Amino acid sequence: MITAVYPGSFDPFTLGHLDVVRRIAPLFDRVVVSVVTNIEKTFMFSMDERMELIGQSVAEFANVEVDCAETLIAEYIKKFEKPVLIKGLRNHVDYEYEATMAVFNRHLDPALETFFITADQRYTYLSSTAVRQLIMFGADLTDYVPNPVADFINKNWR
Ligand code: ADP
Repeated sequence: MITAVYPGSFDPFTLGHLDVVRRIAPLFDRVVVSVVTNIEKTFMFSMDERMELIGQSVAEFANVEVDCAETLIAEYIKKFEKPVLIKGLRNHVDYEYEATMAVFNRHLDPALETFFITADQRYTYLSSTAVRQLIMFGADLTDYVPNPVADFINKNWR
């Protein structure tokens, strides 16, 4: 059974992230959306909030689950059966960063392969950073995040 591990900050989970999940779910036996902690970053949403909101957003997919990755990804993936990493690519900036990370991860674990999926054209401009800006300015989020995420923000940030 191949496990597709899709890691990210997901701060917060956007429609671009959901689109990636929707497209990979039929291609793999099991998909794990892994919420990472990052020592270089502070987050707008707590680990619990990010995990809960992703769980609600992907509830319709039977083979998709949510987990947290609190260690190096190359170590973390060892708990899964036949893991592969999934990364989304919006543009050449993502490509440069993610391709380098893929080589680095394969250096750490020669068996670890990274699969890239290009963003849908509707979401190439969409990032969690942009969504956080919209939240700070009180803008409507309907076109950018799944409903559970928008509902949570409207309740807690407005
Ligand atoms: P961001 O770069 O928006 O802060 P994350 O670190 O949470 O997002 O991203 C997790 C993964 O999802 C990365 O592989 C990233 O390239 C990918 N991703 C982010 N936004 C999109 C999008 N709009 N479409 C496709 N993939 C995306």
